[in-house]
Amino acid sequence: MIRGNDPILLTPGPLTISLETKQAMLRDWGSWDATFNRITASMCADLVDIVHGAATHVTVPLQGSGTFSVEAALANLVPRDGKVLVPQNGAYCLRILKILKYLGRAHTALDIAEDKHPTAAMIEEALKADPKITHVAQVHCETGAGILNPLNEIAEVCARHGKGLIVDAMSSFGAIDIDVSKYPMDAVIAASGKCIEGPPGMGFVIARKAVLEKCQGNSHSLAMDLYDQWTYMQKTTQWRFTPPTHVVAAFRSALDQFKAEGGQPVRGARYAKNVQTLIDGMGALGFRTFLSREVQAPIIVTFHAPGDPAYNFKDFYEKVKARGYILYPGKLTTVETFRVGCIGAIDHNEMRNVVSAVGETLKEMGVTKIAPKLLAAA
Ligand SMILES: *Cc1c(COP(=O)(O)O)cnc(C)c1O
Repeated sequence: MIRGNDPILLTPGPLTISLETKQAMLRDWGSWDATFNRITASMCADLVDIVHGAATHVTVPLQGSGTFSVEAALANLVPRDGKVLVPQNGAYCLRILKILKYLGRAHTALDIAEDKHPTAAMIEEALKADPKITHVAQVHCETGAGILNPLNEIAEVCARHGKGLIVDAMSSFGAIDIDVSKYPMDAVIAASGKCIEGPPGMGFVIARKAVLEKCQGNSHSLAMDLYDQWTYMQKTTQWRFTPPTHVVAAFRSALDQFKAEGGQPVRGARYAKNVQTLIDGMGALGFRTFLSREVQAPIIVTFHAPGDPAYNFKDFYEKVKARGYILYPGKLTTVETFRVGCIGAIDHNEMRNVVSAVGETLKEMGVTKIAPKLLAAA
């Protein structure tokens, strides 16, 4: 699907993108040029369609990595006297809390273990206990451990209680179905360099138009002012400030390939097969996943590190890299783990090769005890 001599990135993101997407960057675009601005407009329309939001929502693209768009969504959609509930089960939920602190928005965390997800009942209880809460900020796939949070049930609770829902769908958008026409959401946030398989450099907020229209003056920051970006774009068809032109052009190509592949259902199925192939192969080598299968998202898998004293992540990483694959360190504080991303322009054959590379690496390192320390001791 790709090729060249670059190692495969199992690190979402950035992730491995197709040759066609890379080639779409070999051209310079003027930001004032009508051709470029038509690309922007068609991109925005396609993104809204992916979440079934054409009737109610608009896309506001924003320069920068995904976090810039998360910050902008919170700064614009939560009024200065609002209060945000953050169900917290991992690193990206903690990042939302940190952003809210920077923004000076009142917030409260609902702490949950990293291998568990919030339930509708838990959210309902928290909303009832604190009537000051105006919004819920929910991470859909918590990429920290790779857990899938039950977005639709949470959306129903928020709607029932009249609370706004802001969703960090960074690592799920395009791979897992999100339907704002059935499950009310004020904003769905994602970025160019995840499941649509574009290069990194641009994020976007798919916002409910009726809500966004009332957001003038909420933002503390000019660069993060989504309302201003949106109204300027409507007036002029152009981006406010220099757009990441090559990223936008490549993302347009990535969207065309996404549609040609069959859209979200087919992309999601390819990733699910990647995850299953990886878990089966690694399981045969003796590895254990951190998450139970029921809560595992089809995006990224966290494995316990082998308990063998001959194992260390740095050497393991280098030796697997020499075989063509870039792994991801673990993001958990309590147990030693590593992660393998299953998204990008890769298929299950690639995942089979990853397992072979890991197996050969373990042999080379003399690692024989694959069971994790904690479980080995038990
Ligand atoms: C990738 C990701 C982000 C954004 O990270 P950046 O490094 O800013 O692109 C935010 N939330 C989740 C859940 C992610 O997976």
